[in-house]
Amino acid sequence: YYASSKIGLLDRLTGKKPLFVKALDDVSITINEGEVLGVLGESGCGKTTLAKILATLEKPTYGELYFMGKNALKNEEFVRKHVSIVFQNPLLSLNPRLTVEELIYEVNKNKEEVKKLLDLVGLNYDYVKDKYPNELSGGQAQRVAIARALAKNPSLLILDEPTSALDASVQAQILNLLIDLQKELKITYLFITHNISVAKYISDRLMVLYAGKVVEEGSANDIFEKPLHPYTQGLISSVPKFGVKDLRPPSGEAPSLINPPPGCRFHPRCPFAMQICKVKEPPLLEVEGRKVACWLYTR
Ligand code: SF4
Repeated sequence: YYASSKIGLLDRLTGKKPLFVKALDDVSITINEGEVLGVLGESGCGKTTLAKILATLEKPTYGELYFMGKNALKNEEFVRKHVSIVFQNPLLSLNPRLTVEELIYEVNKNKEEVKKLLDLVGLNYDYVKDKYPNELSGGQAQRVAIARALAKNPSLLILDEPTSALDASVQAQILNLLIDLQKELKITYLFITHNISVAKYISDRLMVLYAGKVVEEGSANDIFEKPLHPYTQGLISSVPKFGVKDLRPPSGEAPSLINPPPGCRFHPRCPFAMQICKVKEPPLLEVEGRKVACWLYTR
C-alpha cells in the first residue's frame, strides 16, 4: 500500500477560509500477507485516516493504493469485498435497529455460517441472536462487530483501536480473542492503537506515527528491544516493566497538523534536537534492519 492524505476543512470560525490538514504526509505502508502490522501513535497522529483510506472509506488527495495487485482507488468494490474494519466503539458502528442475527446475516446470507461466526467469537447463538446492540455489554457488542467483520471472510482486517472503548477487564479478553482468530484463520491484521503494551502484545511488525509521518518501522521485537527514534524511545521508556499502560508520550504538546513545525516535526519535543532538525525534514532511512526518520542516524 502507498497512501497519502490531505483533508480540506472549512474554517468553522470564519466560514470562509479553508484550512488544510495533512492528516498523513507521504506515508508508505506495506502489509505482508498473514502478519499483524501494528500502527502506534498518539491521538490525532493520522491513524484513523490511515485506516479509512486503506478501507477505501476515504480517498487520499494524492498517492497510490494497491491491494492484492489491483489499483484500490479504481477497484473499490473489490477492496470492500476483501477488507473489513472494526471500529473502536461497537455501539456506534453497529446498526441499532438490527438484531445480532440480522447484523451478521446482512453480510453473510447463510444461517449456519451466522451461527458458526457467533460461536467463533465466543457468543452463545441462542442467547444473543434476537438481541439488539444496546442490550449487549460492550465486550459482547465488540464480539458481534468482529463476527460481522469476519462474515465476508476478509483477507485483511483493519482494527481501529478495537479495545480502547472497553472496560479494562474486557480489553484483554477481546485482545486474546483477536490473537486466537488471527492464528486460526490466518488473516492479515492492521492493528491501530495508542496503547504501547497492546502494540507490543499483538504486533509482528510495528509502524510508529508522529504528526502524520512515519518515524520508525520494523520488527516489533527489534523496536521494543532497542527503539532508535527519540520519539519511540520516549514512548517505550514511559511503560513500566509490568502491567498495561496507555501511551504516555514524551513531554510537550503534539504539533498542530494545520501548521506543523518545519524540519523534523518532533524537534520542539526532542531532547537531541540539532540545528538541522529545525529546518530540514529527515528522510526515512534504513538503519539496523528497519526504517527510521531521524538526523541522528545519517552521520
Ligand atoms: Fe530529534 Fe532531530 Fe531526530 Fe527529529 S531528527 S528526532 S529532532 S534528533
